[in-house]
Amino acid sequence: MKRVFSGARPTGRQHIGNYLGAIQNYVSLQDEFECIYCIVDIHALTSLEGKEAVSTLQPNIQEMILDWLAAGLDPERSILFVQSQVPEVMELHILLSMVTPLSWLLRVPTFKEKVKMQPQNVNYGLLGYPVLMTADIILYKAEFVPVGEDQLPHLELAREIARRFNNLYGYTFPEPQAKLTQAPLILGLDGVQKMSKQLGNDIELAASPQETLERIMTAFTDPARRYKSDPGHPEVCNVYHLHQTFNSDKLEEIYSQCRGAAIGCVDCKKLLAQEINRALAPLRERRRELATRPEYIKELLTEGARRAQAISRETLREAKEKTGLISRA
Ligand code: SF4
Repeated sequence: MKRVFSGARPTGRQHIGNYLGAIQNYVSLQDEFECIYCIVDIHALTSLEGKEAVSTLQPNIQEMILDWLAAGLDPERSILFVQSQVPEVMELHILLSMVTPLSWLLRVPTFKEKVKMQPQNVNYGLLGYPVLMTADIILYKAEFVPVGEDQLPHLELAREIARRFNNLYGYTFPEPQAKLTQAPLILGLDGVQKMSKQLGNDIELAASPQETLERIMTAFTDPARRYKSDPGHPEVCNVYHLHQTFNSDKLEEIYSQCRGAAIGCVDCKKLLAQEINRALAPLRERRRELATRPEYIKELLTEGARRAQAISRETLREAKEKTGLISRA
């Protein structure tokens, strides 16, 4: 089986945008590939500063792994671990930093964006982020990385860094290929921006049915529909877009009812909440059960790190030999 690697920052409880955009894809890749999924806590440190900020890391890792497992990531089939538990990645990051021209990093658009977003904390980690990301992937000699179109430039940079190492020291790392995912863009409850915890426009997977309903009631709908008697425009309504995912059977009916002003937005939202709650009920049940077993979660992450380390040690030894840091065996 070919190997896939993907990492995600520990952002705590996942929302339905994460689920539809990434996690479901992670789950299905398990059928075809040897999958390595990593919670990249070291990357998170590039944006966290101070004791209070980092105190969120461990709880966020716990919440995230619960959602991953509840959604169907299988620790028997995939390697699930936390980045910092496999410290070889930090050593490889340093080796790769020696072969990465500074100019490549300075031109990365996300670096410039981050500088604007956190001008009070422009640390080296922000600049070196793509180098660490490359180390994450090639440490496991992953052939594929699941990415959306918007992440292709990042992967291209990882490929360039791997290629440069190979050119300088001899072939060591496969250049990772993109496994393009056609994930739907899930807008947040504001109906304008991508669903995001940071923006507060999300619906958590683990929310209770009542919380889900309350969140959906805050959703923006068709701005031109001021009264129930006004015909709606479902094509511009985010509630309708969520119906497309969670209530596809009744889509035509909702469309014509909205266009004919036969359904009000409140009832339409209630219907959506009901369907989301129905779809997520098994996941939420599994999550509740897993949350009662913290020792099991701890053990599976330790076992994941052990399996990841068995691969990473070999790769790092090879990279150190090639760069003259240790003698060839
Ligand atoms: S009835 Fe539904 S689809 Fe139509 S505008 Fe209201 S929330 Fe949107």
